[in-house]
Amino acid sequence: MTAPSELAGLRHLHSGKVRDLYGTPDGQLVMVASDRMSAFDFVLPTPIPDKGAILTQLSLWWFERLADLVPNHVVSTDVPAQVAGRALLCRRLDMYPVECVARGYLTGSGLADYLADGAVCGVALPAGLLDGSELPEPIFTPASKADLGEHDENVTYDDVVGTVGDRAAADLRRLTLAVYGRARDIARERGVIVADTKLEFGRGPGGEIVLADEVLTPDSSRFWPADGWQPGRAQPSYDKQFVRDWLTSPASGWDRHSGEPPPPLPEDVVTRTRTKYVEAYERLTGRTWA
Ligand code: ATP
Ligand code: MG
Repeated sequence: MTAPSELAGLRHLHSGKVRDLYGTPDGQLVMVASDRMSAFDFVLPTPIPDKGAILTQLSLWWFERLADLVPNHVVSTDVPAQVAGRALLCRRLDMYPVECVARGYLTGSGLADYLADGAVCGVALPAGLLDGSELPEPIFTPASKADLGEHDENVTYDDVVGTVGDRAAADLRRLTLAVYGRARDIARERGVIVADTKLEFGRGPGGEIVLADEVLTPDSSRFWPADGWQPGRAQPSYDKQFVRDWLTSPASGWDRHSGEPPPPLPEDVVTRTRTKYVEAYERLTGRTWA
C-alpha cells in the first residue's frame, strides 16, 4: 500500500484497501480515493489510472441526487491540490458498524445464502430464483463490518437491532431501501441495472443519520448493462470483471488460494478495466469523462 502518511499537513487516520482518510484540524475528514484496486480481498499491485477520481465524481453525482432522501457527509470538494478531484471534504461521523446492503437482484453472497436455505439475511424468498433474477421487491440484507483482511458477513435484521437498537435499525433499513429505489430508477432510465449496493451511515452530533462513505460506485455496487441481463448465468458488469477473469485464468499464473499476493496486471487488462469505470460513469451521469 502506498498511502502517504501525511497530506498537506493533515493527520493520516486510516487507510483501507482503496481509500485513505485524513483528519483536518477542525475535526473534519478528507476522504481520498486512490487508484488502488482490490480483487478477491487483495490489493492489486497495479493501479488503475483515474479510478479514484472517477469513483469520487460518481459518488458526488449520486449524493446530489439523493440529498432530499437523506443528508450526506459531503462538506465540499475543497481539498489539498495533490488530491483534487479524487477527494472530498466530509463531516466526521460516528459510523454505524453495519454494511447496509440493498438487493434488487439475486447474485453473489445473496445467491449463495439463498441456495443454502431459501433466504438471504433472514428474508425468505420464493423458490426457483436464478443467478441474476430480479427479486419480487428490494430487500435489506445487512452485513457486519469486518476488520481489515476479514470478509464481511451477512447478518439478519434482528442482529442489526441487537447492534444499534430498534430505532436506528428501522431507520437504516428504511433509508437503505429508499436510496436503492431512487438509484435503481435513475440508473434504469440510463440502461443500467443496479443489482445491489452497499451503503454506510453515520450519526451526527445531534443524533441525525447521515449517508457517508462512497455511494453507488462500481466498487460498492453491482452495475449490469440492462441489455445484457439474462438470469441463469453470471451477468456482464461494469466493474472488476476483466481483472477477476484474468486473475483466475492460466495466463496470470496465480492461484488465489495460495496465499501469494496477486501478480501485476498486463497493460491491456488495466486499459480495459479503466474503460469500464469510465463507461459506468458516462452512462450513469450522461457526462463525458475528460
Ligand atoms: P476496506 O474497504 O478496505 O475493507 P475500510 O472500509 O476500512 O476497509 P475504506 O473503505 O477504504 O476502508 O475507507 C473508508 C473508511 O472510512 C471506512 O471505514 C468507513 O466506514 C469510514 N468512513 C466513511 N465516511 C466516514 C465519515 N463521514 N466519518 C467517519 N468515517 C467514515
Ligand atoms: Mg470500505
